Amino acid sequence: MAETKPENAVETIDLCKTYGGGRDARVEALRDVSLAIPRGSIFGLLGPNGAGKSTLINILAGLVIKTSGEARIWGYDIERQMRPARRAIGVVPQELNIDPFFTPRQLLDLQAGLYGVPKAQRRSLELLEAVGLGAQAESYARTLSGGMLRRLLVAKAMVHDPRVLVLDEPTAGVDVELRRQLWSLVRELNERGTTVLLTTHYLAEAEQLCGRIAIINHGRLIACEPTVTLLGRLDAKRLRVTVDRDVSEVPGALKGFNVVIQDARQLIFHYPPSKVNSGQILAAIRDAGLEITDLATRETDLEDIFLRLTHEPMDEAG
Ligand code: ADP
Ligand code: MG
Repeated sequence: MAETKPENAVETIDLCKTYGGGRDARVEALRDVSLAIPRGSIFGLLGPNGAGKSTLINILAGLVIKTSGEARIWGYDIERQMRPARRAIGVVPQELNIDPFFTPRQLLDLQAGLYGVPKAQRRSLELLEAVGLGAQAESYARTLSGGMLRRLLVAKAMVHDPRVLVLDEPTAGVDVELRRQLWSLVRELNERGTTVLLTTHYLAEAEQLCGRIAIINHGRLIACEPTVTLLGRLDAKRLRVTVDRDVSEVPGALKGFNVVIQDARQLIFHYPPSKVNSGQILAAIRDAGLEITDLATRETDLEDIFLRLTHEPMDEAG
């Protein structure tokens, strides 16, 4: 069947969600969220706990009913065209909710059945191979490690070959090695054409993986743009330099920088990477006659981002 390809894999318009019926217990989890996720992208939805990320994803997945606004997946309205909309999305939930008494292959067959995928078109083993679980296809799920379960959930979300794969905080509580595996899997699926939406509360993670980032806080969208534009707009880095001797006041050679002394041997620099590069800072430290014994840059954390994006004066040029 010929199919038109929408420009955006997912679109929301003024999406709102208020939980709770009682007047006092109402939580406005989403307020007028409008965003567009381009077809073929890896899109990051970034926000702290309670921001509304899972609510947004669960609305798209059909697990939570929106209060108002609109949402479309692959062009299909999630309510008026519910069936095609559901078929277009696969969700890897935040929790590892897998029945321990099934084998991975049984779980995928079952899930394919739920989506009405005909037997001849089921690719359970192929999917398990793709997520590196070929050898575990017939083992009980209870014998799998946390990392394997996480990958099994990705395979489960892919059984009906959805256009859009959604991962809700896939690396929360996940070790470095598994995180790497998961990211290469996500990139691979994306290269084969799947649009990916993932939520995270780590900027560094979104930065590495996502071409576009939306930031949500208290249910409101506060940014949605290409990652490079966003990082450029933040334009703030922090560098901590440890030197070989105590410093009691900022040496003359460093007076031109925004620097503070912390613990006598540690200098903390805040600088806009578009105007200053770290090499200049390091050269100035040597000019001041200090030897560098250690260096660390700190990630801009979410709190910094919110402060900059929400309280920053509009014209800070000059
Ligand atoms: P996130 O995934 O970004 O951590 P959530 O979407 O889970 O955020 O939650 C957003 C807000 O909605 C929070 O204040 C949370 O307590 C509230 N919330 C989430 N689910 C429910 C629910 N089923 N009933 C009532 N409030 C909820
Ligand atoms: Mg969540």
